[in-house]
Amino acid sequence: MRYISTRGQAPVLTFGEAMLTGLARDGGLYVPQTIPSFSAEEIAALAGLPYEEVAFRVMFPFVGETFTEEELRGAIARAYAGFGHLARAPLVQLDAGHFLLELFHGPTLAFKDFAMQIIGQLFQLALAKEGKRITIVGATSGDTGSAAIEAFRGLDNVDVFILFPHGRVSEVQRRQMTTPAEENVHALALDGTFDDCQNRLKDMFNHFDFRDEVGLAGVNSINWARVLAQVVYYFTAATAVGAPHRKVSFTVPTGNFGDIFAGFIAKEMGLPIEQLVIATNQNDILHRCLTTGRYEMDGVKPSISPSMDIQISSNFERALFWAYGKDGAAVAQLMDELKTKGGFAVSQGALQALRETYVSGRVSEEETSQTITEELKRSGELLCPHSAVGVRVGAAHVAAPVPMVTLATAHPAKFPDAVEAATGIRPGLPPRMADLFERAERVTRVPNDLAALEALIQERRRK
Ligand SMILES: *Cc1c(COP(=O)(O)O)cnc(C)c1O
Repeated sequence: MRYISTRGQAPVLTFGEAMLTGLARDGGLYVPQTIPSFSAEEIAALAGLPYEEVAFRVMFPFVGETFTEEELRGAIARAYAGFGHLARAPLVQLDAGHFLLELFHGPTLAFKDFAMQIIGQLFQLALAKEGKRITIVGATSGDTGSAAIEAFRGLDNVDVFILFPHGRVSEVQRRQMTTPAEENVHALALDGTFDDCQNRLKDMFNHFDFRDEVGLAGVNSINWARVLAQVVYYFTAATAVGAPHRKVSFTVPTGNFGDIFAGFIAKEMGLPIEQLVIATNQNDILHRCLTTGRYEMDGVKPSISPSMDIQISSNFERALFWAYGKDGAAVAQLMDELKTKGGFAVSQGALQALRETYVSGRVSEEETSQTITEELKRSGELLCPHSAVGVRVGAAHVAAPVPMVTLATAHPAKFPDAVEAATGIRPGLPPRMADLFERAERVTRVPNDLAALEALIQERRRK
């Protein structure tokens, strides 16, 4: 299995190389050269298997010669052992024909744990084989940073530094980053905004001497290994509601397009997916693009579903690559226009291809809040605001007899203020992390200054 860039100009890599590289050298994103496909019998055989076994069968064809069967099985077992639910991704019914896939039973209560936990294990395996060490630096507005810290804490060959904007993340999010005691974990509270954190991170990647010296690596949502890990729960959910004997639809609360793109890959592999529905909050660049054919930046409007507050949806480039018949030069040109003009028009043919694959819906702030209130009354489910965006759009797209599965991307306790405002109930943390507010915090306050940050990372990383 080989991986190629969506812009067609970067070296072709193995799975392991693509995973450790992240972004391709031509600025593109890595995708598999061919998608392995499963027969109806192979899909039917997944029904009822443990999550870990399905994960192995779905992921193994993609890893090629990078990992042996035994290595991948071991990594999967370690990745999901710490989840708070034996099913890992349990399915509950909301309504006739509408199901909720709970992806929030991991260590940081958001679906990002599914991908981050396994890539922590895979990074460690790949680095140990090559006798290499790396330094992971990430910028976060909350969920990604805590998921990365949980995934890499205590690993021998990795040091992890997470930059978050001081005073601008929720207390639960901050404590998830500052309470791990392992010496390879460093939570850095930067004096500035999330954009400042991201800009200093970009500066570090562009400072090649520093980058090479510390072995800088990223784990943001464009990493192919993250997308792959997310393909698995489409298979477990679909077979639980009757695939491959009947079709299934999915609705996905979307920001950077990683999670829903994993659904597209599942469909390409042979899973009979009828509708793949994009649900956005008021940051609706994807919904506007599918509706109008123009992909246009429009500033970020802060919302009560902050993990979907994006201006550009980075993984959408992968969807464009397929819509343009895998024409890397065409994608490169669009991305260039986006950079220089702030937007681009999708060609008629590509727009038609996108509309054949995806539908979309947008949810306002009031509707999000209202959905949290109403869903609690109707089905007893307490939704986080992101999941509420999904449920609202998912409910509007239920088309009997095809079951709809909406992805619940975070636990309500991760966003207690919005949930309390909508329902009067302040959701509590699950028992396994009930002592989060008593644990000692360890955090370094840092200035918004590249040289100071680089010096700190140099000094703290293990050599
Ligand atoms: C990251 C995140 C999303 C958006 O996922 P993408 O893969 O970026 O589309 C939705 N909900 C929650 C809770 C998240 O943390």
